[in-house]
Amino acid sequence: MTMLRIENLHVHYGAAEALRGGDFEIPEGVTVALVGANGAGKTTLLKAIMGLVRPSQGRILLGGKDVTGATPVRMVRNGLALSPEGREMFGDLTVRENLRLGALPLGLPESTVEKRIEEVCERFPKLAERLEQRSATMSGGEQQMVAMGRALMAKPKLLLLDEPSLGLAPLVTDEIFAIIHQLTRSGTTILLVEQNAARALSASSYAYLLANGRVVEQGESSGLLTDPNLRRAFLGAASDQNPAASRLGATGLTNIRLEKPDMSHKTFMPTFTSVDELAAHQLKGLQWTVEHAYQGSSFYREALDQAGITPAEIKSLDDLKHLPMTTADDLRDGYPFPLRAVPYEQIVRIHASSGTTGKRKVLAYTQKDLDDWVHFFARCYEMAGVTPLDRVQIAVGYGIWTAGMGFQLGVEKLGALAVPAGPGNIDMQIQFLLDFQSTVFCSTASMALLMAEEIHHRGLADKINVQKVIYGSERSSTSMRQKISELFGGAELFDITGLTELYGPGTGIECSHHDCIHYWGDYYLVEIIDPETLEVLPDGEWGEMVITTLCKEAAPLIRYRTRDITRIIPGPCSCGSILPRHSRIKGRSDDTFKFRGVNIYPSSIDTLLSSVPGLGSEFQVHLSRDDDSGRDHMQLIVERGQGVDPSRMPELVHEMLYQFKKQLLVTPEVELVDYGHLPRSERKNQRIFDSRLKDDVV
Ligand code: ZN
Repeated sequence: MTMLRIENLHVHYGAAEALRGGDFEIPEGVTVALVGANGAGKTTLLKAIMGLVRPSQGRILLGGKDVTGATPVRMVRNGLALSPEGREMFGDLTVRENLRLGALPLGLPESTVEKRIEEVCERFPKLAERLEQRSATMSGGEQQMVAMGRALMAKPKLLLLDEPSLGLAPLVTDEIFAIIHQLTRSGTTILLVEQNAARALSASSYAYLLANGRVVEQGESSGLLTDPNLRRAFLGAASDQNPAASRLGATGLTNIRLEKPDMSHKTFMPTFTSVDELAAHQLKGLQWTVEHAYQGSSFYREALDQAGITPAEIKSLDDLKHLPMTTADDLRDGYPFPLRAVPYEQIVRIHASSGTTGKRKVLAYTQKDLDDWVHFFARCYEMAGVTPLDRVQIAVGYGIWTAGMGFQLGVEKLGALAVPAGPGNIDMQIQFLLDFQSTVFCSTASMALLMAEEIHHRGLADKINVQKVIYGSERSSTSMRQKISELFGGAELFDITGLTELYGPGTGIECSHHDCIHYWGDYYLVEIIDPETLEVLPDGEWGEMVITTLCKEAAPLIRYRTRDITRIIPGPCSCGSILPRHSRIKGRSDDTFKFRGVNIYPSSIDTLLSSVPGLGSEFQVHLSRDDDSGRDHMQLIVERGQGVDPSRMPELVHEMLYQFKKQLLVTPEVELVDYGHLPRSERKNQRIFDSRLKDDVV
C-alpha cells in the first residue's frame, strides 16, 4: 500500500526553483532513500512534505488524501515526523525537555508523554542515562539520537530522516544505521535522506537519485548496489579522480564514501546465454574428465577398462550413461588419497569428512580446484543477494571439514565482511549478532532453529539485523523454515547444498524465488537414478543424485552416487537464471526406512507434520521389533507447536493419525510432547532410531 505519493512537485525560493517536478512514491512499511549532493533538492522535498515550505505546483497525497499545503502541526497530527539535518537541538534544554517537544503538537496527557519517553529510552539506552543533561553538552552521535528520539515521540507512521550520519564518525554512523535498521524491522516507514550513497542504499528498499531538483535515477536499492550496469550508472567511479564517470558524479556528488575500496562489482555467474552453449561446455568438460581420470588414476583406468569403454568413445552427453558408477566404498578403499588423478606434488590441500580411520572420506585439491570452489561459493552468495556491504557470520565448523573454509573464502572473494564464529557457543553467537550487527547467518538448519528459538526467548529479535539465513547439510521441513524465519525477525532463508566429495558446500543454492536449488551445471553434471535398479530416471522424477565433475583435477568424480534423494526440475526458473536446478534434498537413500513393507523418507514425515496446524516441526521415530511375534512397531514422538494449548491434544493426535494412514499407509503409536521437549543440537538432529535387525533396513 502506498503511504505517501508526491506528484509533479515544484518548490520555489523566490525566483529560484529548488524542486522541478518530482514524482515519488513511498510504500507502507519500507525505507525509501533520497540520494544526492548538497543543493539537489532533498531537504526541500522533506520540508515541503512536512508543510515547512509551500509548493508552487503539484500534490502531496497521504494515504490517498490530499495534504498539500497543510501546516507542520497538522502534518505531525497526520502521523509524520521529521528528524532535521543538523539535529536543530535546543542546546539549553535537557534531553528530556527536547524529547517532550516532539509530542507537543499532539496535546497528549502527561502520563502518555512520560510513557513515550520511556519507550524512546528503550530504543536509545544511551539517552536513558542522560535525560537531565543539557543537550549542548552531548556528542554529535548522542545529539542525533535525541533528534531521532524527539521525532519518535510523535509515534509517526512516516519518519523523515534528514542526513542522520552527517558529521559523525564511522563507528557512530554504524550505531545510528543499526537503529534505522531496527526501526524498519519494527514496521516504521522511513524516508531517508543521505549523502553517503552506499550507506543509504544498503539501508533502504528503494532509492531516488536527485540532482538539480530533478529525479535522475531510481530503482530497487539492492539492484542499484549490485547490478554492474546500474552501479556504473548510479555510483560508478564517482571518485575524486573521475567524478563525471557516473550519473552521481556528473551531478556534483563526489563525496561518496564507499565502504570498500574495490566495489566495482564483478559477477560470479556463468556467461552462457543459452542451454545449448552450456551443453557444449559440459561435453567438453566430460571428455576432459574421462581422459584425465583414465590417464591419471589407476582406479578409474581399471574401472573404465572393465566397463569396456575408452575416453575417445565419449561423443555426446548421452554417452555418460555408459560410464561405470563410483560409490563411497571406492573412496574408502582408496584411503588416504582416493580417486587421485594428479601427482602428489600438485595437491595443495586436503579435507575430510567425519568418521573413524578408514571410514573417513578424504578429498584432495589442486590450486585450480580450490580457485574453482571459491569462485562458485561467491556465486552462492551472489545468488542469495549478499553484497559486499553485508556482514556474514559463519557458524559452521572450521578445520579438516570443508564447511567453514568454503564459507569464509567465498565471503572474502565477494568482498563482504566475514565473522568466522565457528560452530556452537550460542551465547557468543548472539553477542556477535548484536555487536557486529551481522546481516547474514550461516549454519546447519538445526543450529539456525536453536539460535532462532534462543533469540526469541531472550527477546532480541528487533535488536539483531540478520536479513538472510544460509543453511545447509541437512533436510529442513517447511514448518521448520517458517519457524526459523519468523523467530529471526522475518529473515529470508537460503538452502545451500554440497558434499565433501564434490569440493564441499556451495555447489548449489536456493534462489530468491525459493522453489528450487540452482546447481552449478558448468562445474558438474547431475543424473537422477533409481537406487534399486540404477536406471537413469527422466527429469522430474525423484531418485538418487549421481554426480560427474567437469573440471576437477585432484580427485575427479565420475558418476558418483551421492545417496541424496532429489529430482531435476525441468525448464527455466522464474528468477531468470539459466543455471539448471533440482529440488531441495528430500533425504538420503540410506536414511530411508522400510516399515511393514512401506518405504518412508524422513522428509515425508516433515511434510505430513507441516500440514497439520498446531504440530511442531521436531519429531523422533523409534522403530522396534517384537521378537516373539516378529511384528514391527513404530513410535512417533512429536512436539506440539509453540503456544498450542495441551487441551487440543486428542484432536491433534486424531488428525495426525488420519494423515499418516492416508499418506503413508501406516499407523504409528503417537506420543505428543511439549514444545521444546525434544533435544536440539548444533549439528544434525537425529530423528530416526531403528533398533530392528539391521539387515532389514533399506
Ligand atoms: Zn531461480
